[in-house]
Amino acid sequence: MKIAKLASAAVGLMVVAGLAACGSSTKTGDQEPGGDSSAVLVGVTMPTRSSERWIHDGDNVKSQLEALGYRVDLQYAENDIPTQVNQIENQITKGAKLLIIASIDGTAITTQLQQAADKKIPVIAYDRLIRKSPNVDYYATFDNYKVGVQQATSLLVGLGLKKADGTDGAAKGPFNIELFAGSPDDNNATFFFNGAMDTLKPYLDKGTLVVKSGETDFKTVAILRWDPATAQKRMEDLLTKTYAKGAKVNGVLSPYDGLSIGILSALKSSGYGTSGQPYPIVTGQDAEVASVKSIIAGEQYATIYKDTRELAKVTVKMADAVLKGGKPEVNNTKDYDNGNKVVPSYLLEPVIVYKDNYAKTLIETGYYTESQLK
Ligand code: BGC
Repeated sequence: MKIAKLASAAVGLMVVAGLAACGSSTKTGDQEPGGDSSAVLVGVTMPTRSSERWIHDGDNVKSQLEALGYRVDLQYAENDIPTQVNQIENQITKGAKLLIIASIDGTAITTQLQQAADKKIPVIAYDRLIRKSPNVDYYATFDNYKVGVQQATSLLVGLGLKKADGTDGAAKGPFNIELFAGSPDDNNATFFFNGAMDTLKPYLDKGTLVVKSGETDFKTVAILRWDPATAQKRMEDLLTKTYAKGAKVNGVLSPYDGLSIGILSALKSSGYGTSGQPYPIVTGQDAEVASVKSIIAGEQYATIYKDTRELAKVTVKMADAVLKGGKPEVNNTKDYDNGNKVVPSYLLEPVIVYKDNYAKTLIETGYYTESQLK
């Protein structure tokens, strides 16, 4: 109403300034950008809202882009590949000038990326590498191999084989452990698993650590779409198959907090988590609220903190540089070969969170408030 009135008044008076004011107050988004960046649309696609971290990622990327004057179309696909494919296609149709994509399956969007390339729309892979396509320009992520090393390190620390400062611990073992990996279509899952296995290998070779089920192969231990229920089911099966006759599991390598919750719940149903039979050492990733609370309560042992505010910052800086015709800063040009090219990347540092450093890593940094973790 107000806009219509303004417009007619402006037209009536034939005041050009009035028309311009009217243009800037409308919300249709199809106004002439008029030289400033306020009308430039950036498409952002995230995999799912079912895990807190992606909600933080989406919010951070959106607000930081908007602070620079961009318009943002932010979409979540609830881990459904065709939905994500449609969202990217829509963003291209809507006229996005750059795409930021955290893919569900790193190989499933090749056609859409070609459409983007045909229209000279640059693409930044967010957190997860987009694979088997030449049409990905940059990659912003954490040092994913290091995440795996840290997950395995926290397992070794929990078992007493290592100290948090990296020196040897007093424990001798042998300890029974079980291994879980992330979704096989997520490139990160392999990096995490490789980092972890390289770190555990000397202990496995010596027999200090024993994977009692014998299931050590990535494909066997991978959990499709990072689904907590699938991990819970696999842990239940392991407990029935391998640990029914009295042997105990002492440690579980879990690559993501959501899986750790499923794993702990299977363990609980099987009698773990009491003073006579404490939980095994269970690792994690993402420092999600429920898992940090679990760490404080002495259930999950550790997680890996990846500051999504920083990842958003790096990505938004990249996007802004590209959109302004410049070259973004990268710090790795060798490790992330997507099967088609090595994608120039910016890697951030992950941090291990234990019960005794959560306040320093998560509260003092302002990532969470104390009351959120109560
Ligand atoms: C991310 C992890 C996350 C996992 C499951 C990975 O690609 O790097 O931080 O735990 O997806 O959402």
